[in-house]
Amino acid sequence: MSDALPSGRPVPGPAARPPREAREAGDAAAAGAPEVFTPQERARGRALARAQWIPVLAARAVSTALLAVLGLTPAGARIVDAASAPFGDARPVRVLCGGLALLLLLDLARLPFAARLHVVRRDAGLDTRGWGGWSADLLRGLALSLPLALGALLGLHALLAAAPDTWWAWAAAAAALGVTAVSWLAPLLLEPVFNRFTPMEPGPLRDALLGLAAADGVRVREVLVADASRRTTALNAYVSGFGATRRIVVYDTLLATAPPGEVGLVVAHELGHVRHRDVARGTALAALGAAAGVCALAAALRPGPLLSAAGADGLADSRSTALLLLAVAAGGALAGPFGRAAGRRAEARADRHALGLTGDAAGFVAMQRRLSVANVSDVDPPRLLHLLFGTHPSAVRRIAAAMRGDGRPCCPPARARGGGAPAAGTSGAGTSGAGTSSGGTSGAGTSGAGAGDGR
Ligand SMILES: [Zn+2]
Repeated sequence: MSDALPSGRPVPGPAARPPREAREAGDAAAAGAPEVFTPQERARGRALARAQWIPVLAARAVSTALLAVLGLTPAGARIVDAASAPFGDARPVRVLCGGLALLLLLDLARLPFAARLHVVRRDAGLDTRGWGGWSADLLRGLALSLPLALGALLGLHALLAAAPDTWWAWAAAAAALGVTAVSWLAPLLLEPVFNRFTPMEPGPLRDALLGLAAADGVRVREVLVADASRRTTALNAYVSGFGATRRIVVYDTLLATAPPGEVGLVVAHELGHVRHRDVARGTALAALGAAAGVCALAAALRPGPLLSAAGADGLADSRSTALLLLAVAAGGALAGPFGRAAGRRAEARADRHALGLTGDAAGFVAMQRRLSVANVSDVDPPRLLHLLFGTHPSAVRRIAAAMRGDGRPCCPPARARGGGAPAAGTSGAGTSGAGTSSGGTSGAGTSGAGAGDGR
């Protein structure tokens, strides 16, 4: 384990704990964090964050404005009519054709900003894909997201037709089930679309990582390595799935650049997610949110003025599709900051777990520094952007927490479980999705800007 920062400066030992108010405020300066980043590193991260925020926020603004026009005027209904006209009047056909046209139009509106983001990250050396690879990933994303969205629209309209009075209750249950199914199936069906995963090579590092998991009382059959270097130089690791599909994944970029001790700390953080069942918690939260969102949508659209503005006779009318998409987008935008706040708390908890498990605050600081510098993170992003979009505590806060001794053991080792498949049947879970990976050290700087790899 490193005894010194890569810059050669010694790592200060844990400082005296600051006043409770300072800790709760999360103010890195008040917490007494020594400076571990050079002014140049800070400036480079801030500059990249700014360059990313512009296309990210512009894409949101443009797609929101477009959706508002489509959903709150008859423009969306006209698109549904025009797109489905050649294929007949059957409602499923109208929903499919109209929904596809609207979704593609929205993607088209976001395309220039996505391309700009690619250029920004490529120029910063973070994105190693050419336009061919970028386009292929874009098409892969569409191939996954469009069937899911169109399936949800079709299912909703089927429920509206079959149960005009109680559709919302069935739809809420279906939304919760759908979110859970996608989270569970993601490691099996979604992640392999973008990356190849191979078990870590046998050797001292693998033995050490499995030993770390055993010491933590977590059964991990394999640590998987993702071929992330195909598209990025960023360093990352994450846990996804729960129950039988749970897995710890480490980027090959991390293995290639970080010393074994730091890889161990990253995995210790992921084990924290497993021990605290963060994937299952996050999935449950998202499922509840989806169900509540359906109920809110039903209540908001029941009176009818919005449907009239959209040129639809009712929710069951396929002309309401643009309004439905607008309502879903609005719900997601409103709920997002709350979900990300919960995610940041889980990340801080996983950090404390890693520190408690390894007792290596100096190594933790070195690891955070390495990830932040390699990922060109904004290590101390603007507060409002961080609160709205940050998926992780900022790097300076994570480092400050380690230095002030937050790594006291947070939980006793789990009770050893009987034999059998390591993950199967156990309820331990890590985290998945944005805001949960250990490597995106400053969500608002990289992945939080919507510019990361989505983990
Ligand atoms: Zn994490």
